[in-house]
Amino acid sequence: MSNTIEHIVVVGGGSAGWLAAAVIAAEHRHLRVTLVESPGVPPIGVGEGTWPSMRDTLHRIGVSESDFFRECDAAFKQGSRFDRWVDGSDGDYYFHPFVLPQGYGDANLAAAWQARHREVPFADLASFQPHLCVQGRAPKQARTPEFAAVANYGYHLDAGKFGVFLRTHCVDKLGVRHVLDHVDAVVPHEDGERRGDIAGLRLRESGTLTGDLFIDCTGMQSLLLGGHYGVPLLHQKHVLFNDRALAVQVPYATPDAPIASQTTSTAQSAGWIWDIGLPTRRGIGYVYSSAHVGDEEAARQLGDYVVAGGGPASISPRRIAFEPGYRERFWQRNCVAIGLSAGFIEPLEASALALVEMSAAWLADDMPATRAQMDVVAARFNEAFTYRWERVIEFLKLHYVLSTRSDSSYWIEHRQAGSIPARLQELLELWRTRPPSRRDFPRIEEVFPSASYQYILYGMQFAFDGAPRASDLPQEADRHFREAARLTAQMLPALPSNRALLEHIRMHGLPRI
Ligand SMILES: Cc1cc2nc3c(=O)[nH]c(=O)nc-3n(C[C@H](O)[C@H](O)[C@H](O)COP(=O)(O)OP(=O)(O)OC[C@H]3O[C@@H](n4cnc5c(N)ncnc54)[C@H](O)[C@@H]3O)c2cc1C
Repeated sequence: MSNTIEHIVVVGGGSAGWLAAAVIAAEHRHLRVTLVESPGVPPIGVGEGTWPSMRDTLHRIGVSESDFFRECDAAFKQGSRFDRWVDGSDGDYYFHPFVLPQGYGDANLAAAWQARHREVPFADLASFQPHLCVQGRAPKQARTPEFAAVANYGYHLDAGKFGVFLRTHCVDKLGVRHVLDHVDAVVPHEDGERRGDIAGLRLRESGTLTGDLFIDCTGMQSLLLGGHYGVPLLHQKHVLFNDRALAVQVPYATPDAPIASQTTSTAQSAGWIWDIGLPTRRGIGYVYSSAHVGDEEAARQLGDYVVAGGGPASISPRRIAFEPGYRERFWQRNCVAIGLSAGFIEPLEASALALVEMSAAWLADDMPATRAQMDVVAARFNEAFTYRWERVIEFLKLHYVLSTRSDSSYWIEHRQAGSIPARLQELLELWRTRPPSRRDFPRIEEVFPSASYQYILYGMQFAFDGAPRASDLPQEADRHFREAARLTAQMLPALPSNRALLEHIRMHGLPRI
């Protein structure tokens, strides 16, 4: 099987399809890339929170960040804020910012915080970024070039506009061929050594589309990997119960209302509500477990949240059902699934688009040159992404197992041992006497670094009681805490508000690199 790989066919025109097409086409100018999407099946239209990795992705595909801000109604995201997750009381909050704790790795910050500074939330002590978020500050200045940061940031964006933006760039600048047609059937290779591969796709209007590698970005139906190849979904509802979402777009009370610098996730009786600020509106949604709350009661809780935040008294949220899980394999024969077709777990840390970016980057970096190489690349991809999905699930579960809320069966059941992955239980046991370290997450490209675990653990008031160690160096930790405070004092007056900088970008743009 030495056939050269020349033609990549992406099926699906949601965020996953266009991101995959863009990253591959930008890296491999010699390859033909075709994206086919059904005119009758719209993209899911949600997915508004991203990671800092999106800056690298957008830079890699060659777009202007200023154009992106303007055309995607995008805003800055500097992390997540979790309200009412610890015990559900008023004033119960913590941050998971995008910057590492100050001096992370040089000193045992967690031990010093726990021994002497418990009255201050861990992230507020170890990082300047929560303070920027509380004050609604932007993570850079008007003169900071595109994609560069003073404080690490990702984006909040309008998912529908993002798809159009990527499509225009793919078609106009990267030479991606766009076919608007519905895939009715898969045409397999019938014989020879490629028997079992996909030869082509039968399109409703325009005949058969052949290709060498097929990227399944067909959303939750997983048309090629799940449908054609029958690769099963590994269900995860027993670990992470949420399987429904209600999503709504809410106008600001006034056009100059502050734009939040973080995603806020507010815990509810049977799930949590996301709140994302874009320049022109907020995106708000309730992610919940249908086994623990009915749709009507969930809609009522969402309505109460919207009204409490100054939104309209009446809302008509969109309901989205999902089955939490990921595929047993992501790449089979000459077909690889990226996006919702590969799996989906509740968007608590906005990891879905990050996994799309990682998948697209892996594919672009390790693109097989021939069919003979493909099985080797596929095996490595499957191993890497199974590892990543497992880590995502453990990290999301961590947010639940540490809560002391007992106001509903939802929170109590989340702490039952049978629902907690074994590896997470083992790590929690270790973390009773020492903080998470890089050794716990040893891969070069971990989805969540040990610093993220520290932010969640200590944000949730997890206590450890290990004996002091010679390497703890309390004076070093305190030096880093003072540095975080100094940076806070320096940055707050120097950084514009989120809205002011976004307005500047709309009018004048950012300097190009
Ligand atoms: C409630 C909710 C909130 C979320 N929030 C976040 C978030 O904050 N951050 C984040 O990173 N992710 C989030 N996600 C996930 C994110 O929305 C998705 O990962 C992202 O939108 C990618 O979707 P997709 O492109 O895989 O699928 P889709 O957007 O569903 O696109 C599927 C595409 O396949 C095409 N298609 C389907 N069938 C056919 C056919 N037969 N022939 C041709 N084409 C076909 C459709 O036309 C469509 O273009 C969220 C998801 C949900 C459900």
